[in-house]
Amino acid sequence: MRRGKQQHLIPVFIIVLCCTGMITCASNNTKKQQKKSDIHMTDLSRQHNEAKKLSKELRKKGISDERVLAAISNVPRHSFIDEQLSAYAYQDRPLPIESGQTISQPFTVAYQTELLQLQAGEKVLEIGTGSGYQAAILCEMEAEVYSIERYYNLYQTAKEILNKLGYYPNLFFGDGFEGLPEHAPFDKILITAAPEKIPEKLLQQLRVGGWMVVPLGGRGGQKMTVIRRVSDTEFKESEHGDFIFVPMQEGTVE
Ligand code: SAH
Repeated sequence: MRRGKQQHLIPVFIIVLCCTGMITCASNNTKKQQKKSDIHMTDLSRQHNEAKKLSKELRKKGISDERVLAAISNVPRHSFIDEQLSAYAYQDRPLPIESGQTISQPFTVAYQTELLQLQAGEKVLEIGTGSGYQAAILCEMEAEVYSIERYYNLYQTAKEILNKLGYYPNLFFGDGFEGLPEHAPFDKILITAAPEKIPEKLLQQLRVGGWMVVPLGGRGGQKMTVIRRVSDTEFKESEHGDFIFVPMQEGTVE
């Protein structure tokens, strides 16, 4: 009986040793992971603070829609730009993205979004996905978002970034002048590139009672314009200040 017990003790001892080793190893790994995630958390909270500061700055500059300001605080703008420019991500200025395009100045994004007066659940069509930042702001505001981009590479990159961040707008590669007749009518249409004339096909995709926000004009500068669809055939226009956007161009680029 005794011998039997001792024989059993040896394997038990080995098992205990192995387990201790495994636990020590696991706890070391956890520590390492925790260190890594501490750094990650510090980065995230710093960026979140910067986004909040940006939102405060936009409030001072005249943006008053709380839902827009909250969206600006919550969307990590640095995720939408080249890492080399990340030091500028939360400054109120436009920045270059691929294909000679730009991510709009945060004030412009907030201003256009405020003019939309977006209600949760509204169906909104954005023309010019670009970096995807504006689409993320619209998603934060719980809109049903559709967005079209004419550059395939921008469409693809924006999709990857948005999905990584947990935003799932309906993204399309195509010519925004055509709109999305198969998904019309839209409650709101937001154009983030500048057409010289009002895009007629898009007006027809607005529901009666809905409106479009569009920077209207040539390369020299544009007037921010709101066009309301008052009835099937009647539209009313109002102007809301001067801006400079990249031009809205016809066709697509593969
Ligand atoms: N909303 C974007 C701003 C991008 S700048 C953002 O948040 O980053 C304007 C974008 O409009 C550019 O990416 C440009 O390629 C796109 N664009 C210009 N003409 C277009 C058209 N006809 N259809 C779709 N996108 C267009």
